[in-house]
Amino acid sequence: MCLSHDSKDKRLRVSVLVQYKDFNIVIDCGPDFRQQMLSNPVERLDAILFTHEHSDHTAGLDDIRPYFFRQGDIPVYAHKRVLDSLRKRFDYIFATQDKYPGAPSVKEMEIENKAFKVGDITVVPVDVMHNRVQVFGFRIGNFAYITDAKTIAEEEMKKLKGLDVLVINALREEPHHSHFSLQDALEFIEEVKPKHSYLTHISHNLGFHEQVQAKLPKNVFLAYDNLKISI
Ligand SMILES: [Zn+2]
Ligand SMILES: [Zn+2]
Repeated sequence: MCLSHDSKDKRLRVSVLVQYKDFNIVIDCGPDFRQQMLSNPVERLDAILFTHEHSDHTAGLDDIRPYFFRQGDIPVYAHKRVLDSLRKRFDYIFATQDKYPGAPSVKEMEIENKAFKVGDITVVPVDVMHNRVQVFGFRIGNFAYITDAKTIAEEEMKKLKGLDVLVINALREEPHHSHFSLQDALEFIEEVKPKHSYLTHISHNLGFHEQVQAKLPKNVFLAYDNLKISI
């Protein structure tokens, strides 16, 4: 039971909207996508980037409908394995024949661990491991968003040099088999040395926002729903 009256302790599932060069890019489309778009209205959705296939990151795909009605097929960028998973779970969205009227459609954009373009924006995937599930983080300019990481190869760390803002997952204080604990995340930040870091994918068990925030190092912040950062 949530005992807090602080709105920063009321957390929907993780996602981020990146607005850059007139493009609106959403990273992950979890079960709260509809609610998140109602709270932060955007006219156009230029791309959805998926980190991995887990439901807390994908279950809201059906709610792209209003964007599909306005724009047509919505470009979806994901690893082949993630696209395969989405195709099974949302077969009516991916159907190419006898499509049910009104079902939304996507444009499948398979990505690998190499830089790709969304319009004229360069996106650099950062490969991390979530126990045994591969996950993509994404770097756009001097902003990087990584969620559901537990381990990361030295090679991938090199992609995170010179960041203004890093968003990184921190689940709770106790260790977890597939997510960074608070300690793991702080050690990671120590190594990456971004100017500012924001912690996300926070569980109920981490504690109250205000109390945890007070214990964090300078330039490390707990993210919260509807937080806006300008770079
Ligand atoms: Zn996950
Ligand atoms: Zn997750």
